[in-house]
Amino acid sequence: MAEKKTGKEIHCPVSKNCGGCDYVGIPYTEQLKRKEQRVRDLLSSLCPVRPIVGAKEPCFYRNKVHWAFGHMGTHLIAGRYAEGSHRIIENDHCLLEDEECSKILSDIRDLAIRFKIPSYDEKTRRGLLRRVLLRKGSATGEVMVVLVLASPVLPGKKGFIKILLEKHPSIKTVLININTRSDSMILGDKTICEFGRGFIWDELLGVRFKISPESFYQINHDQTEKLYSLAIEAASLRPGDRVLDAYCGIGTIGLCAASSVPGIRLTGVELNRAAVRDARDNAAANGKQREQDTDKKSTFERARFLAADATKYMVEEAAKNSAFDVVFLDPPRAGTTPEFITACEKLAPKRIVYVSCDPTTLARDLKEFKKHGYAPQYAVPVDMFPFTDHTENCCLLERV
Ligand code: SAH
Repeated sequence: MAEKKTGKEIHCPVSKNCGGCDYVGIPYTEQLKRKEQRVRDLLSSLCPVRPIVGAKEPCFYRNKVHWAFGHMGTHLIAGRYAEGSHRIIENDHCLLEDEECSKILSDIRDLAIRFKIPSYDEKTRRGLLRRVLLRKGSATGEVMVVLVLASPVLPGKKGFIKILLEKHPSIKTVLININTRSDSMILGDKTICEFGRGFIWDELLGVRFKISPESFYQINHDQTEKLYSLAIEAASLRPGDRVLDAYCGIGTIGLCAASSVPGIRLTGVELNRAAVRDARDNAAANGKQREQDTDKKSTFERARFLAADATKYMVEEAAKNSAFDVVFLDPPRAGTTPEFITACEKLAPKRIVYVSCDPTTLARDLKEFKKHGYAPQYAVPVDMFPFTDHTENCCLLERV
């Protein structure tokens, strides 16, 4: 098992076959240097780049873990897919995965063997158990288990789930997802809740978040809190500000901002309908929790979340002559669109806080923002994914 030390080299017995970690064997301090340099190379011609924010604990950070199931001869095996392939790498002690999640997954594999549950074969499209997805609320300790099957009937289901729950009381919900797809999507369209409420709770910066199986949620809890704190600080919000959280997922950035500056008027926009439902529930639940604090309560209760394409929403709002004081945007790796940026100019926020998981598309979009009257002030890389070459970045833009 990997040592919890940052200055030393950390090795993994399967790293050569797995390919999931780019920086295994490289001391964490050196990983940070390399990542910071890469961001500097891409962004320093556009704005100052502040020192990278590293993790206190670089191992075992993934709170979302999934294993694929397959077979070697007649023997059932489970693990991560090797990078860029569907070859299963068995490793019960991955240095990225939350250790409790790894333990639960290896117990599920052993139970599947005991219950003689056949794994799914992608070539013949026969068999049953495809994958198991786990999510854990790092602050609450709540765990969600999603068994991904090729068809709905799991032999011995009641006994299987009962044993699992007895062994791991932190499991608060168990779901079965039916995936008959032939692509590499983890989840299919149909999910049935077999135990619990169908979601788990977590907490970020004192705000509670409901997480459904399909919703996006950042995978490194502690680094997410640092990233969001930086984003909220950059926004310099004031009560009364009209704030947009674009690509908002389950509303995390906006609702954390609402908690830190009561009185803001928050709108979130997000494409995934399940995430939007979660965002609305999160606003309501956090409002309810703050019965005593009327300012905070009404800030949460006034928050609105819309299911829409972010660009389409921006273009429509610009056509209506709407306005925002501050815009947060946190798009997927592909970045945002030129139309989003053009519409931003019309909506005329004083500040834009761009949270990006890809510095290459961030650099491209910053150049476009510059053409539309927004000057990048600074960027801060945050190491959300130690041992991989990905970096999150928080960049402040101001209207010139
Ligand atoms: N800010 C959130 C989510 C960031 S991930 C957080 O920190 O957790 C990016 C989000 O953008 C995902 O939830 C994804 O579903 C959403 N998304 C992807 N394309 C989109 C689009 N065209 N319009 C709006 N949201 C989109």
